[in-house]
Amino acid sequence: MDKKLYFFANWKMYLGAKDSTNLAKEYLNIEYPENCKVAVFPSAFAVPEIAKILKGSELELGAQNTYWADKGGYTGEISAVTYKEMGCTYALVGHAERRHIFHESNHDVRLKIEALLQLGITPVLCVGETGEERKKNQIEEVLEAQIRSAFMDLSWPEDITPIVAYEPVWAIGTGESCDAKEAERISDLISSWSEELIGQEPVILYGGSVRGENISGYLAEEHISGALVGGASAKAESWSELIGCLE
Ligand code: PEP
Repeated sequence: MDKKLYFFANWKMYLGAKDSTNLAKEYLNIEYPENCKVAVFPSAFAVPEIAKILKGSELELGAQNTYWADKGGYTGEISAVTYKEMGCTYALVGHAERRHIFHESNHDVRLKIEALLQLGITPVLCVGETGEERKKNQIEEVLEAQIRSAFMDLSWPEDITPIVAYEPVWAIGTGESCDAKEAERISDLISSWSEELIGQEPVILYGGSVRGENISGYLAEEHISGALVGGASAKAESWSELIGCLE
C-alpha cells in the first residue's frame, strides 16, 4: 500500500497497570509495515511506565483525554502539559465516550485543541453521529457542526498534521462497523470542510469495530488513511492479526 498509514490503539479503561505494561511490551514484538505510524493511547496511570517501555522504538504515545488549562483547581483532571512531560505526542479529543458519557461539548473540544496545538501535541479530533442522528438524516449537520466548531478561525500550525477520526457512535464497540463506501463518503465531506477551515486536508482515520477481517475495505478508500481501534487493540492477538492484514 502506497499511502502512509496510521494505526492508533485506544485501550480505553480496559486494562489495569500491569496488563497495560505487558501489552505495550507485546506491541514491540509485532512487525509493523514501514509506511505505518503506530501510537498507543493507554490509561493515564500507565502512561509514564509505557513511555519508558516504548523509548527508542518507532511506537508513539498518546493521551486518551486532556484538560485545556495548564494548572489550577481542577480536581481529577490531567493537563496536556503533564502528558507532554510524559512524552505524549498525540491526544484524542472529543472521543464519542467523552462526548456522550461525560457530556463534553463542541466548545470543550475546541478549547482542548487550542491547548494541545500551543504545546505542539497533535490532536486527534474524533467526530461521529449517533444511531438516532443517522436515522433522522442528521449525519451531515452533526458532523459539520463538530468540524466547524473545532476548526473555525483556527490558525493551524505548519508543523502539525491535522488528524480527524470518523467514528460513528453506533459502530463503537458494537461489532457493527460502518460500510466502507459510506465511511468514504463521510471522509470526503470531512476533508472538504476541513480544507475550507484550516487550509489543508486532514489525515482521516476510520474508527468503529475495526478488525482484521474488515480493515482492508477501509484502506482501499481514497480518503481513509488508517484506523482508530478500541477493542481489537486491547489484546495482543487481535492487534497483531489486524497489523498482519496490512501487508
Ligand atoms: C474507539 O474506541 O475509538 C473504537 C473505535 O472502539 P472499537 O474499535 O472497540 O469500536
